[in-house]
Amino acid sequence: MVQAEHDPGYDIRSMTRRELEILLRKEGQPAYRARQVFNWMHVKLAASYDEMSDIPLSLRERLKDWPLTVLKTETVQVSRLDGTRKYLFRLPDGCMAESVLMRYHHGNTVCVSSQVGCAMGCRFCASTLGGKVRDLLPSEMLEQVYRIQTDTKERVSHVVVMGTGEPLENYDNLVRFIHLLTGEEGLNISQRNITVSTCGIVPRIYDLAQEKLAVTLALSLHAPTDELRRQLMPIARKYTIEETLKACAGYFSVTGRRVTFEYSLISGVNDSIQHAKTLGQLLAPLKGHVNLIPVNPVRERSFLRSAHSDVVNFKNTLEKYGFHVTIRRELGSDIDGACGQLRAKREGLKEESGKPDESFFGD
Ligand code: SAH
Repeated sequence: MVQAEHDPGYDIRSMTRRELEILLRKEGQPAYRARQVFNWMHVKLAASYDEMSDIPLSLRERLKDWPLTVLKTETVQVSRLDGTRKYLFRLPDGCMAESVLMRYHHGNTVCVSSQVGCAMGCRFCASTLGGKVRDLLPSEMLEQVYRIQTDTKERVSHVVVMGTGEPLENYDNLVRFIHLLTGEEGLNISQRNITVSTCGIVPRIYDLAQEKLAVTLALSLHAPTDELRRQLMPIARKYTIEETLKACAGYFSVTGRRVTFEYSLISGVNDSIQHAKTLGQLLAPLKGHVNLIPVNPVRERSFLRSAHSDVVNFKNTLEKYGFHVTIRRELGSDIDGACGQLRAKREGLKEESGKPDESFFGD
């Protein structure tokens, strides 16, 4: 068994190659065995030790002391319009996580979840119904990509951490996940093709900048003033827009990666021309990219999507400030459900059970 001082405290699929080497050395195995096992887990995407045909049977049996994390596909919904696939996975402990495969001209993108449920309590989001249950392990984030690539037999080239959960609240697991996903000995996905979306956990944005990763940071802004943002996102009670944008500017200056600003347009709430002008002035010094998302109505919430003409007017107004503005292309609209809706539906989650974790936000 592994000695405590070398035990990284992670399941085997979350271990780095180096950690795996240490573990197998304790088992009297040469270093090349670690390379083989790592390759089975992270390149051949093995779902069991029994698949590892060039590993001696006796070692495969020994390895079963370290359960190999695998996600089981509960359901897949396939869009007939554009091939978007929504997966509901069952985790080893029975919890559910959802992921989406989107096919863009630049490649296949997987949207991964970082937590089971979410404690952030954004008013328009279904992921927060039921609150946070637990963090996902690095292996459980990787497995969402691995099972989808195995299922479709198509290479996943881009990953967006925009599914259920607040990734910067699961910081260590997120960073480990990025290293394993982008490492040369794994799927070797370019760090430039990874986007991490956050509601704005300011200290963690500074930390992420220091990791010297080439990943894109996306900030969920959704309002141009603190007053309005506080009505939509409890996190705005903890950090002001000014503090948050300062952290984003810091992220850009350290990493050289431009930040993306996400703005969900909600009819009559944050979608007026005046809102667009205020947002334009606010973001002008940052010169980032703005991604407009017509809000996905969530049955349990009362918000409505902005009219198409309002979305276009908002975009045109923002562009006058020199931004690159995109309207998120709607994929899978026939199988749609906003973030977290699949799981919420399956688990019968209702608003009453999903109050945000008030102790986190203070006042
Ligand atoms: N916690 C992270 C990542 C998960 S949400 C974050 O807040 O960024 C991914 C994006 O989808 C966020 O911008 C989020 O605000 C947005 N979102 C959530 N529910 C939505 C809905 N019903 N309609 C449109 N966008 C939504």
